[in-house]
Amino acid sequence: MARQNLEERAEKTLRDSDCYRVPVPIHHVAERLNLTLEATALGDKVSGMLVVQGNEGSIGYNSAHARVRQRFTISHEIAHYLLHARRSGKAQLFIDKQITYRRDEQSSTGMNSDEIEANKLGAALLMPRGLVQQEVRAQDLDLDDNEAIEILAKKFQVSTVAMGNRLQNLRMLAYEN
Ligand SMILES: [Zn+2]
Repeated sequence: MARQNLEERAEKTLRDSDCYRVPVPIHHVAERLNLTLEATALGDKVSGMLVVQGNEGSIGYNSAHARVRQRFTISHEIAHYLLHARRSGKAQLFIDKQITYRRDEQSSTGMNSDEIEANKLGAALLMPRGLVQQEVRAQDLDLDDNEAIEILAKKFQVSTVAMGNRLQNLRMLAYEN
């Protein structure tokens, strides 16, 4: 799916579930989509998983991980659900080991296209373009300033790395328009 469409898909999903606000209540988004959530002991290597059957599913996320990381995982699994889960009777399982957010220019290396897409939509769900722009304007932030990235990361309850990458991708998007 084209990047522009992923941005729109994210905004629409949030608006439809009444969750278009800062910070994005990602747990509610999952619930509205009929996805149950469970924090579980998944060991070091697994961040999260998604099981889908028909129109329902459940997301497991690593209970040992930091909250911002759990939010990122949940968002990533929601993205798999929206994009990649076939609505068939047969159960499907997605398992995510280390979910790392990569910038677009790096993402072509060593990751399959579903993962790249889930990362993009996951980031757009947690840091929707419209809301990020709104915060930047409202607080008159200078995005070349690291402190601004930290402020935004706190507001959106994401890691500073995730926010830094997201801002860079949004800038790239702006140039394309
Ligand atoms: Zn994944």
